[in-house]
Amino acid sequence: MKTKNRTLAFFDAKPYDRRSFDLANQDFGYEITYFDTKLNSATVELASGFDAACAFVNDTLDKHVVEYLAEHGTGIIALRCAGYNNVDFEAAFGKIHAVRVPAYSPYAVAEHATALILTLNRKIHKAYNRVREGNFAIHGLVGFDMHGKTAGVVGTGAIGRSLISILQGFGMKVLAYDPFPNQEYAAEKGFTYVDLPQLYKQSDIISLHCPLTPETKYMINETTISTLKDGVMLINTGRGGLIDTKALISGLKSGKIGAAGLDVYEEESDYFFEDRSTEMIADDVLARLLTFPNVLITSHQAFLTHDALKNIASTTLNNLKDYFEENRLTNEICYQCQSPCPKDKPVGEPCFKGPADHSKK
Ligand code: NAD
Repeated sequence: MKTKNRTLAFFDAKPYDRRSFDLANQDFGYEITYFDTKLNSATVELASGFDAACAFVNDTLDKHVVEYLAEHGTGIIALRCAGYNNVDFEAAFGKIHAVRVPAYSPYAVAEHATALILTLNRKIHKAYNRVREGNFAIHGLVGFDMHGKTAGVVGTGAIGRSLISILQGFGMKVLAYDPFPNQEYAAEKGFTYVDLPQLYKQSDIISLHCPLTPETKYMINETTISTLKDGVMLINTGRGGLIDTKALISGLKSGKIGAAGLDVYEEESDYFFEDRSTEMIADDVLARLLTFPNVLITSHQAFLTHDALKNIASTTLNNLKDYFEENRLTNEICYQCQSPCPKDKPVGEPCFKGPADHSKK
């Protein structure tokens, strides 16, 4: 068997990544090489010979990249994020492991979604600029009481559940949709599962917390937007591809959508996480979105708290420890379900249990 030197090629490394991983690595002692570049087919050669490749949300682990890694000595892809839509698991199956960080801080993301809601509702982004320029007028800043309004939460995993508690604290009525509803939990917490058309029809605020899959891609589109409440606020901290952005822009222009808070964008990889302040924006869709006073975009920063960074680093390095010590990989993604699989399966063995098992949280 090939000796593992415990080397890690770390892609799309930012200063805050280096700080948190260097600190956590004091307990592991892996040899980490940080690359500023994203991992994709043009850069994958950099990973040649490394035992592990560490990737983030905008790295592209398509068939070519996955096969290249497997053929050049890399045994594991360690995603330092929860989402895993950027990995071709079918290509990876039986050739290379893929692990993720399933829950590093659901609170960080849920609290950021709340920040987007509050800012858009009470127009804090506009008020901040006005007051700094000596404009103390408050016309145009009218919001609404969240108390008594209805929130629709799509996806009741770790983040969706955290947001539900927060919004209930504001006195909101919460409707939720999840293909694997946990009715017992809903009854205990006092929210109601409904089907998606009902959620779309009744919610004053809709927040998306499901993974991006072929099924959820463009779930917010021209047709579904036409069924939403007039003036609805749409929040997306999930993945950009959940929303057809051109349809969103039409909805904003017509007034159907009253406000949009976006921490993710379907074409974000060229812009998000980077400083492009000295360049023009070549993406006309993004540029148009930025012109709306009722659209608030943040650059995929919902996860970015000290607590989350610490957890991401320690879980990622623990995932690698399990791999190097040939333990069960508890955070491996099941290639067949395209989803986390709870089954204790040996390496390379398919999961026969099917997606229904994922209802067990
Ligand atoms: P999770 O796995 O705990 O929960 C996801 C939930 O979505 C599950 O309950 C699942 O059953 C449900 N789901 C699956 N398919 C669905 C569908 N078609 N419709 C509705 N619900 C569906 O994940 P999580 O930790 O709550 O994270 C949710 C998503 O948030 C991630 O997939 C990721 O894309 C995104 N995320 C974003 C950031 C950020 O910084 N913006 C950070 C972490 C996660």
